[in-house]
Amino acid sequence: MDQTKIDALRAQPVPAFSHLIEGRHVSASDGGVMDIVSPIDGTVLTTTAKGTAKDMERAIASARAAFEDRRWAGQPPAARKKVLMRWADLIDAHALDLAVLGVRDNGTEISMALKAEPGSAAATIRYYAEALDKIYGEIAPTAPDVLGLIHKEPVGVVGAIIPWNFPMMIGAWKLGPALAMGNSVVVKPSETASLSLMRMCDLALEAGLPPGVLNAVTGEGAVVGEVMGLSMDIDVLVFTGSGGTGRRLMDYAARSNMKRVYLELGGKSPNIVFADAPNLAEAAKVAAGGIFRNAGQVCVAGSRLLVEDAIHDDFVAEVAKAAEAMRVGDPLQIDTHIGAVNSQQQLAANLGFVETALAEGGQLKTGGTRILQETGGYYMAPTIVTGVTRDATLAQKEVFGPVLGVTPFSTDAEAVDLANSTVYGLAGAVWTSDLSRAHRMVRDVRTGVMHVNTYGGADGTVPLGGVGQSGNGSDKSLHAIEKYINLKTAWIKL
Ligand code: NAD
Repeated sequence: MDQTKIDALRAQPVPAFSHLIEGRHVSASDGGVMDIVSPIDGTVLTTTAKGTAKDMERAIASARAAFEDRRWAGQPPAARKKVLMRWADLIDAHALDLAVLGVRDNGTEISMALKAEPGSAAATIRYYAEALDKIYGEIAPTAPDVLGLIHKEPVGVVGAIIPWNFPMMIGAWKLGPALAMGNSVVVKPSETASLSLMRMCDLALEAGLPPGVLNAVTGEGAVVGEVMGLSMDIDVLVFTGSGGTGRRLMDYAARSNMKRVYLELGGKSPNIVFADAPNLAEAAKVAAGGIFRNAGQVCVAGSRLLVEDAIHDDFVAEVAKAAEAMRVGDPLQIDTHIGAVNSQQQLAANLGFVETALAEGGQLKTGGTRILQETGGYYMAPTIVTGVTRDATLAQKEVFGPVLGVTPFSTDAEAVDLANSTVYGLAGAVWTSDLSRAHRMVRDVRTGVMHVNTYGGADGTVPLGGVGQSGNGSDKSLHAIEKYINLKTAWIKL
């Protein structure tokens, strides 16, 4: 990474953004725009179109028309593969400008954003491009006088609603498999992090994706998101975001065409550290990274640290030391470890959680405050609260900020009980040298992902999805493809 290049890119003004519909950039039907505020310094970076119901309807009609005339689904797999590979190459070629644009919009530290955003988006799209001509239909083991064929068909029009923490990466988790399987797509990025994803969609057209196959509409969730949710012409809705919005999407589906709804929601992921962990110093460093990178705005963040009694005080001291050593600040400096909180509203919510945690008997080990206020940006010191009880708010509710709650345990059974004591089930980790204990914890802790002697970093070959109120279905890996196909039986009398 080259700081001079990053500085040059950040000095460039950002043009106003508009929707991408029918392969063209279009303004909102009523000309409305939204200010895009940079969390780096609180200034207005640019504007995007403030989508109306009419805009979303037009985008959905565009996707539907593109699907019905089979301009994409009807192409040979090799042709679709070529376009998607070219798209991935273009994302790689523009990686630094996409990453800097995204950081100016959402505040993630550039060292993480470059890898996690364009880097992983390109890898994801390439993965599904490579996979698309290796997905076969099936012949059922029927009686000899019939032939039962199982075809795998694209579903039709996919609506994708994306959050603000990793817009390109999460966007690619949906767009990659959806487009690979021949669907048309309408994507709605978050109000507070849309720019890099919008530009990534432009690159798809440049790569040769036919106009109308991929449409992108910016605007408020409660307006354009709701229209998408209630549409009779969206066949599958794929979503990453909060549980509250997820609930609404299920309701929209029930009130409209009963579209399939796949939800990737929040978490309160337990990071369980036993005294027999192979390397406690390493575990402490990784535990700090696992909650504080991207200012805690990571769905799988290890936000609950469960520590065996015998090592509790020393281990927490090590995690606090690691946290205090992390540089918080300008996310466009390559040596920054923790960038900005995405919005003023999110920062206020984070501080509110700390206040509640202390009022409920937690003790502040480090952090707990807004910092660098003079920059105008939204920064928060990495925060550790100890003595968090099983039912405390900080143990039960997702903060989605740089706030770690610590709870001691004394037995394996107690660790499992604590780990499973929330409505969530997204991710978790166990640190131990005991192989049997590791396997038991993987089995007994109810999550979609368990890490052993590490935290985070799972690549595109494995699924990511939650259980309980962390969602249903999963992103990544070949398993994600199931969300974007219908199975059709042909029953042929011979
Ligand atoms: P959010 O639910 O507020 O918003 C997500 C998206 O939904 C945005 O695009 C928003 O505009 C849209 N939206 C809001 N209201 C809507 C409505 N009524 N109808 C349709 N769309 C609507 O979530 P957020 O704050 O952007 O993201 C943070 C959340 O996302 C956290 O809970 C986090 O854990 C979760 N997340 C989960 C994963 C995962 O893979 N499980 C990954 C990243 C983030």
